[in-house]
Amino acid sequence: MAQLFSLGGIERVYFMIPIKIQCGCGQKYAFDVEPVNGRMSSAVACPVCGADGTAAADAVIAQTLTEQLALEWDDQKSKLMEAILGCEHYIVMHAIIPYAAGGGLDLYYYPHSIPGTAIATKELSGLRDQGSSNRVFSCYELAMFTRHPLNMEHANDDATPFGRAHSNIKRILNRIAPYSASATLNPNETCEFPAEMKHVGGKCLIFDAYGLTSSEQPRSFGVLAVIEIHRSEMDFARLAGGSELIQRLKAAGHYPYSDLDRDPVA
Ligand SMILES: [Zn+2]
Repeated sequence: MAQLFSLGGIERVYFMIPIKIQCGCGQKYAFDVEPVNGRMSSAVACPVCGADGTAAADAVIAQTLTEQLALEWDDQKSKLMEAILGCEHYIVMHAIIPYAAGGGLDLYYYPHSIPGTAIATKELSGLRDQGSSNRVFSCYELAMFTRHPLNMEHANDDATPFGRAHSNIKRILNRIAPYSASATLNPNETCEFPAEMKHVGGKCLIFDAYGLTSSEQPRSFGVLAVIEIHRSEMDFARLAGGSELIQRLKAAGHYPYSDLDRDPVA
C-alpha cells in the first residue's frame, strides 16, 4: 500500500523499503517496512538475542529516503540546467575517481544554446537547497564557456583548440568546485589563483549569475558562470565593480567566454 509522506516539503508516494540489519550479536535479519513519517512504525528486535534494532532500521530508512530525494533532485536540476544552458549533450565526461570520493568532477556539455560550448558541473548540489550557495542562489552548479564548438574527440587533445580550452576549463572547475563548498562566491566578484598553484596559478576569474536578468532576486537554484579574464580586467573590476566589467565584456561580445585570445576590455 502506498502512502503520502512529506520530507523537505516534497510530498511523495513510496512503497515498502527493504531493511537488512546486522545485530551486535552477529545475527543478520531482514524485513520490508512501510515507514511512517520517515521512521519505523513499531519497534523491531533481534530474533536471537532480543536486542532492539529500531534505531538501525530508522537509519536505513533515512538513508533510502535521502537517496530517493537525491535522484529526484538530480532529475529536476538537470531540467533546470537545460532551461538555462540549452539541451545537454548525450556524452558525459566521467571522472575515474568520483568527485565525492576526492576525485575529479564529471563534466556535462551544452553545445546548443549560444555559439561554442558550455561545460558544467552537476556535483555541487546533491540535494535541493544544499551544497554550494551564495547571495542569489540557495544552491548552484558551475558553468564555463568556450567559443570553440564541442568536439569530444578533441576534448583530451591539447594539440587542438577545443582540447586546450577544455583542459583549461576542467582545471579551473576542479579548483573552484571544492572552494565553493566553503567560500561564498557571489556574482560580480573576482578571484585569483595563487601564483604557485599548479596549472592555474595566476589566473583571474569573475563570477556571474548566468541567465538571471535581475541578480538581486534570490533563486533556489542557478548556474554560476565562471569567466576567465585578463589581469587588467580584474584590476578594473576591483576598482570600478564587477558588474561594470561584465557590462564591458557583453558590449564587446566576449561574455561569457573564457577564451583569452582577445584584447582586454580594460
Ligand atoms: Zn542479536
